[in-house]
Amino acid sequence: MTLRKLQSEFAILSSGIPAKARELGYEVTNGDAYRDPRVFGNLGESKGYGHPKSAHKLRLARDFNLFKDGKYRDDTESHRALGEWWKQQHPLARWGGDFRRPDGNHYSFEYEGVM
Ligand SMILES: [Zn+2]
Repeated sequence: MTLRKLQSEFAILSSGIPAKARELGYEVTNGDAYRDPRVFGNLGESKGYGHPKSAHKLRLARDFNLFKDGKYRDDTESHRALGEWWKQQHPLARWGGDFRRPDGNHYSFEYEGVM
């Protein structure tokens, strides 16, 4: 699998997240998507915020800001239903709520060992 193929697949599938959120009774707004290496460093480099090996640097992650009843929810548990759904969309789909340091608004593709 090439990076470009992964990026295309991720772009298509992650575009379904806002509609699914609505179906679940939430609203979302866009958060971080691509993190430019000129600002955040190359993959593996620690610069700015975020994990040095973040999938955002490869265009394989999107963050969504979640709202329920008009209120912003930044806790991981509020994202759980959407995160569980996301993980079923592709074998490489990962939800930040499962990370060692939970990051509930993060929806990504695994890339290590794939390319
Ligand atoms: Zn993220």
